[in-house]
Amino acid sequence: MQRFFDDNVEFKNIVLMVKRSEEIWAKCLQIIRDNVPKNSFRTWFEPIVPLDIQDNVLTIQVPSTFFYEFIEEQFLDLLKKTLHKVIGPDAKLEYHVVMENNSNSEKPYTVKIPAREKTQLVNRPVQMPLDLEANAIVNPFVIPGIKKVHVDPHLNPEYTFDNFVEGECNRLARSAGYAVAQNPGGTAFNPLFVYGGSGLGKTHLAQAIGIEVKKLMPEKVVLYVDANKFLTQYMEATRNNNRNDFIHFYQMIDVLIVDDVQYFAKKEGTQEVFFHIFNHLHQHGKQLVLTSDKPPVELNGMEQRLLSRFKWGLSADLQEPDFETRIKILKKKTYKDGIIIEEEILEYIASHITSNIRELEGALVSLLAQSTLNKKEITMELAKDMIDKLVKSTRREISIDYIQKVVCNYFSMSVDLLSSKTRKREIVQARQIAMFFAKSMTKASLASIGASIGGKDHATVLHACKTVNNLIETDKRFKGDLDEIEKRLKM
Ligand code: ADP
Ligand code: MG
Repeated sequence: MQRFFDDNVEFKNIVLMVKRSEEIWAKCLQIIRDNVPKNSFRTWFEPIVPLDIQDNVLTIQVPSTFFYEFIEEQFLDLLKKTLHKVIGPDAKLEYHVVMENNSNSEKPYTVKIPAREKTQLVNRPVQMPLDLEANAIVNPFVIPGIKKVHVDPHLNPEYTFDNFVEGECNRLARSAGYAVAQNPGGTAFNPLFVYGGSGLGKTHLAQAIGIEVKKLMPEKVVLYVDANKFLTQYMEATRNNNRNDFIHFYQMIDVLIVDDVQYFAKKEGTQEVFFHIFNHLHQHGKQLVLTSDKPPVELNGMEQRLLSRFKWGLSADLQEPDFETRIKILKKKTYKDGIIIEEEILEYIASHITSNIRELEGALVSLLAQSTLNKKEITMELAKDMIDKLVKSTRREISIDYIQKVVCNYFSMSVDLLSSKTRKREIVQARQIAMFFAKSMTKASLASIGASIGGKDHATVLHACKTVNNLIETDKRFKGDLDEIEKRLKM
């Protein structure tokens, strides 16, 4: 009985509150209407629903975060004055943002955002389905009615600073990364731009920063994203008209780690959107960590304004590890796995695999696998055998098909186009480049290269090779493209 009574009172209070807020909002609208163009009024104010008023705080409901931000940016002054007039000098405004969860959920979710405190956006409970494999983003905002933000940082717990062996080759990058992790957004290293060849530890180091931040400051929103994933998410978001939600999601991250930004080359749309996200985060003192396979100056196909921002903080490179570091890395791994391998054997591995830590680890793993599978001891003989095979297999011959694939992939076109009759410059050029690499990287004859690429004769291939050689000497951009393709072919 008591309970029913209480509920009933509460219900009545709510009705009263809504009514009062409606009245107040109607008064506000009268003032606003006289101060904004008709169209703006219709677009930005009519959709607003007053929800309640308590202690001079008026809560209004807006349809999206974008809507909320737009109002705050364009009409803040007018809103302030209006509320002041209608409610009084202590008037405050609070927003409820309604976001439809596109994945067929019936209920719109509601989030509270106090006016004029955009940083509060960070406290919205938002989850980004980053796993595109599972499903493409329908709408990056899924708001499970929890108060705290939950963004899966996508960090691999193995990639810690502890597991990252320090050496001459990585000292600067490592200590800069460490400094950033202690004080994200608060050092001069923003962005921290880590570059270096494949398998030299860029991903590991970038993730270590994220892990360390999470360890020291669990409340920070950390996100690791591969540039390719970012690209795909962005395309999906554009296709689903969620571009703004996509941007907003990224704008609430405290430490954003984007791995392999070289993949943004030539993707103008993605660069543009990343530019806005970058600016927003940087302006709000948030930390950016970027990695790339080359330094900013060598990144072709990247907008100048973005490149110049990449250089704002610190660029630090990861170099090939020296012998001692290679040994240290091998020892660390064996120690972690609880295995003892003779020093001599480790030295043999370290002296044969010199330029790539991933391969160094790979060699160790396959040595261990072989010894377990064949129940053989890890001997020098086994190690030599295995290294021999590994080194051979990495020097495999490259096929013409593979070359066509890599070239077309680089120019984002389908392989079929190479054999089309068109005279379009890009296609002709891609074909010539494929022919050029087929000539220099395979043992195939001019005639068979021509036959495989677009059904041309040997003279065409010869002409292609000459043209490409000429362009390499005269056109810097073209040379950049070629270097990149060559690198990918050798990967
Ligand atoms: P990248 O991203 O530059 O291609 P990764 O970060 O993926 O390279 O590193 C390749 C492998 O080498 C990973 O397993 C990583 O843990 C290991 N690795 C790289 N650098 C180090 C290091 N300094 N100490 C220990 N392991 C390392
Ligand atoms: Mg990597």
